Amino acid sequence: MRIDIITLFPEMFEPVFNDSIIGRAQKSGEISIHTHQLRDFAFDKHRRVDDTPYGGGMGMLMKAEPIALCFEEICRQTGERPHFVYMSPQGKTLNQQRLKELADIKNICVLCGHYEGVDQRLLDSFIDEEISIGDYVLTGGEIPAMVFCDALCRMVPGVLTNNECFTEESHYNGLLEYPQYTKPSEWRGIEVPDVLLSGHHANIEKWRKEKSLEVTAQKRPDLLKNKGVL
Ligand code: SAM
Repeated sequence: MRIDIITLFPEMFEPVFNDSIIGRAQKSGEISIHTHQLRDFAFDKHRRVDDTPYGGGMGMLMKAEPIALCFEEICRQTGERPHFVYMSPQGKTLNQQRLKELADIKNICVLCGHYEGVDQRLLDSFIDEEISIGDYVLTGGEIPAMVFCDALCRMVPGVLTNNECFTEESHYNGLLEYPQYTKPSEWRGIEVPDVLLSGHHANIEKWRKEKSLEVTAQKRPDLLKNKGVL
């Protein structure tokens, strides 16, 4: 998968995507992430990427043309039109189901907004999907884009090793994950459940399924309702 990110702050992404699991996946070629400085596509007299909103009001808006030019350059580089996502508090809230679907796409481009947002004409004519990371407003789209890209990249085949498998994790099947424990088997007088030390795989599996349901019912009963369990 190739991800292109249009942003006013490309340097914010380096420490996040060049290390750890995403950094490893970039080095081994499963994914490649390219950031693009939007200011490099501002060709008007004052090289502006933002301006005041028509009709008055607070703040500034991102202009349409630099974004359009940047996206067109990305289309040229990739040789096809990427699925174009705008990080926005007005978008559909991101969830694991949508990530599963998007993980099959080869080219994705992500637009990070700033100020009061983006000229509506650009959104109407270029954007395929608006994605929100929750019902609150951040100062810019960079942190939402990092959240989106991190969650997306780990779903791409080969990014996680077998030991880091995501199919067992919370939300993959609409449930939360069972509790987990590591060494020592007794810590400050608290013992790991016997079944996990038994080596009996079928019983461990059964215990994990039951605990997963129990934890979900306790912490997120709404998820069980969605699955039709409650
Ligand atoms: N005026 C806009 C509104 O009320 O819908 C909010 C603009 S916000 C201050 C600036 C940028 O941050 C947005 O263009 C968007 O890219 C990003 N952003 C803020 N909150 C977000 C969220 N919950 N999810 C995704 N992106 C968000």
